[in-house]
Amino acid sequence: MTNALIKIDHVQKQFGKNEVLKDINGTVQKGEVICIIGPSGSGKSTLLRCINQLEQPTAGAVWFAGSDLTKANQQELAKLGESIGMVFQNFNLFPNLTVLDNLTLAPMRVKHLSAADAKQVGMKYLTRVGLAEKANAYPASLSGGQQQRVAIARALSMNPEVMLFDEPTSALDPEMVGEVLQVMQELADEDMTMIVVTHEMGFAKRVADEVWFMDGGYLLEKNTPQALFEHPQEERTQAFINKII
Ligand code: ADP
Ligand code: MG
Repeated sequence: MTNALIKIDHVQKQFGKNEVLKDINGTVQKGEVICIIGPSGSGKSTLLRCINQLEQPTAGAVWFAGSDLTKANQQELAKLGESIGMVFQNFNLFPNLTVLDNLTLAPMRVKHLSAADAKQVGMKYLTRVGLAEKANAYPASLSGGQQQRVAIARALSMNPEVMLFDEPTSALDPEMVGEVLQVMQELADEDMTMIVVTHEMGFAKRVADEVWFMDGGYLLEKNTPQALFEHPQEERTQAFINKII
């Protein structure tokens, strides 16, 4: 038994002969913010996808709130899946739906909220990310930063217990990065549990409780941001940090 909200237990993932995750172990406590850094191709996205069950690990287990996701049946998985929000690099909004309809779709279809209730929830989160006035706009008419804030609001509308972010600011023009990081920081301040794959070292330093460095499918090093950035234990961590700072 464990009190961790998420426990990654000897997780491996192979695609054919390509071993993408090699014995990953880690725990995330409720309210913690974990930032995952590491070079392209090191397995960061695959690890997030194993946590929210978009991918099945080849071996090992992912525990969420005391349940082994790798052993859950479809019904249990659907339930647990509702508790895990995900935000992608490219927003993944539905282009043919208004902003508000993007937010109300899953709560109505999955949680069977009435349209009125779903709208109320949706407006609450749109207001929270500062975009209430865009409720009836279509995604294409918004800036990248606004679209990403809508994507965050959409994930929050399902009332998740944890939010996963996969390079949420990597596709944004530099002047829009700040507004998205600001929303994420507010969420962290409100004790949302978050796992954030990011290259934003300033954000990681300010907000993360722990930073995980991945390289070549290994979780090579984890530590507080201060310790990891200032006194990395592994040469490869040092080399990566030198490159991006
Ligand atoms: P990162 O997010 O750190 O850049 P990824 O997790 O996206 O790394 O990818 C790690 C490795 O896994 C890469 O070599 C990639 O080609 C491979 N990979 C990821 N997803 C798949 C997939 N669905 N099928 C085959 N190979 C994949
Ligand atoms: Mg990735």
